Amino acid sequence: MSRATIFAGTITFYRRAESVGSCWIPSLKIKDILTKTRPVSFEFFPPRQAEGIPAVLETLDELKQYLPDFVSVTYGAGGSTRAFTEEITFEIKRNTDVEVMAHLTCVGQNKEELDEVLSRLQEEGVENIIALRGDPPKGTTEFVPVEGGFQHATDLLHHVVSNYKFGVAAACYPEGHTESVDLDADLKYVKMKVDNGADFLVTQLFYDNRFYFDFVERARAEGIEVPIIPGVLPVLNSAQVRRFTTLSGSKIPLDLDKLLDKYADSDHSARDMGVEYATAQVRELWDSGVPGVHFYVLNRSYSVSRILDNLQIAGHQRQD
Ligand code: FAD
Repeated sequence: MSRATIFAGTITFYRRAESVGSCWIPSLKIKDILTKTRPVSFEFFPPRQAEGIPAVLETLDELKQYLPDFVSVTYGAGGSTRAFTEEITFEIKRNTDVEVMAHLTCVGQNKEELDEVLSRLQEEGVENIIALRGDPPKGTTEFVPVEGGFQHATDLLHHVVSNYKFGVAAACYPEGHTESVDLDADLKYVKMKVDNGADFLVTQLFYDNRFYFDFVERARAEGIEVPIIPGVLPVLNSAQVRRFTTLSGSKIPLDLDKLLDKYADSDHSARDMGVEYATAQVRELWDSGVPGVHFYVLNRSYSVSRILDNLQIAGHQRQD
């Protein structure tokens, strides 16, 4: 029995299709979805072990109740999790109604190896990817490409756009990427990503919306016109948020900082506080007219479900 058959038994599958005349179009480029609606999207990550894959798909199945416009699956640092990225992406593509975007990084693979991944994605009918550089391996600070590999996301983007028909997104950093000399230099490379064919951008997590608003303003002034979708990570526990923000260079506002301290010993309370904080954050973003919201779900459905229940966004209310 194939793994696909096993998973097919574990969750409810149905495929959305857009009706155009008598034709049924099973999927779309995300840039086309963005022109119709302000999407809500969810990001998942591949588990370390294959046994964890059904749980990821079950979380997706629960969150499908909120009619996401697309979901994405991150690309691991190496080894088997990368195969699981493909496996989960293919499962979603084959067996659900949700559009899927595969993450792909330049880490540890040369052009030929990346072409193999891209060809498999293409053969499976995956239409959307987000092209990233990836982080330097643990314990190192400098990214060094493998021989024949790509140095930057801009190079991978150029390669993908020149040789494939994927819809392509790229990452951006409202507070600047950790390796950037300054915000202007960072923005210059974001512009290069768009010039190299990125259809839209997804931001790094941030907890103070002013960084997003300022970034969008600077991006527009720089001539970057594509949608810039804010990435939101609801607090699940205090230590985790402190770790993630240290890694990403995102600042924790004073009010959130105090709350993280207050709930440092209670994950349950921290999670509830995180729901309230993210609800307010997303409400302000949504009211300002953002082109969508991308939730870093961390393979958990509880917080994002509560946030969407609180917000009651048209088109993204729970379907029972
Ligand atoms: P780049 O765009 O290459 O930027 C890296 C640094 O180089 C920046 O400081 C930038 O200013 C500079 N730079 C960019 N282009 C050039 C250039 N042409 N010349 C000189 N300097 C340049 N990581 C994973 O491992 N897997 C994932 O699935 C994943 N998904 C992510 C999704 C999102 C939405 C985000 C925001 C990040 C994600 N990451 C993921 C993390 C990401 O890989 C890291 O942040 C990484 O350090 C930078 O990736 P990048 O694509 O922005 O790289």
